[in-house]
Amino acid sequence: MALIKTTGTKSGIGMTSIRTRERMLVRLREQGIKDEVVLSAMGEIPRHIFIDEALSIRAYEDVSLPIGYSQTISQPYIVARMTEILRNGKQLNKVLEIGTGCGYQTAILSRVAKEVLSLERIRPLVMKARGHLRTLKCNNVKLDHADGSAGLNEYAPFDGIIVTAAASHVPQELLVQLAVGGRMIIPIGTTAQILTLIERTNNSANEYVQTKLEAVKFVPLLGGISG
Ligand code: SAH
Repeated sequence: MALIKTTGTKSGIGMTSIRTRERMLVRLREQGIKDEVVLSAMGEIPRHIFIDEALSIRAYEDVSLPIGYSQTISQPYIVARMTEILRNGKQLNKVLEIGTGCGYQTAILSRVAKEVLSLERIRPLVMKARGHLRTLKCNNVKLDHADGSAGLNEYAPFDGIIVTAAASHVPQELLVQLAVGGRMIIPIGTTAQILTLIERTNNSANEYVQTKLEAVKFVPLLGGISG
């Protein structure tokens, strides 16, 4: 009888990641995530490929992890929650993400939106994220090395804007790039941060409704770009 022996971290993770991802989905449901479209994207995208091999054993734990350059990959619950709020049960057309990082949230967005544009201020992270998104065939994503606080006017309006770094206030340029009826999700604050939903209402083009959701902890939204 042939005995198949697998050695090495990569193959080990390859075999267990489907199971650990399933456990992650169970946990996300327990944490209150209900949108099946979001849950299916979270089940499909392998989080471990976004993380350095030394840490990939922890890839499906509900924690943020370092990705280099003093930045982190967001916690799965936060990625799912922000995506669920942005989607609001509807198909998204064009979404802008500020703070690509390693591209995990971007990959999830690529499965729930027709088109995703994402901006990152640290060049090596843009290159890293591009590689990951290519591997996963996220062909509806465009990444740019830019300061995201100014948004991406030439592609506006967006029916969703997601900011994955904490801002002291809502950048004005982003508000005007939100489509009428669109939603922005953004952590606001410095030491204490609150995940905040901003809706541009259908009532009048310049009416925005702000709802504070829950306490979060993100790296700060910084100005300028870094090579
Ligand atoms: N979306 C990521 C989270 C990345 S952490 C995920 O899926 O895990 C936040 C990222 O925002 C960092 O990579 C940081 O460099 C970036 N960032 C901070 N300020 C920025 C700015 N003004 N413009 C673009 N990116 C910014």
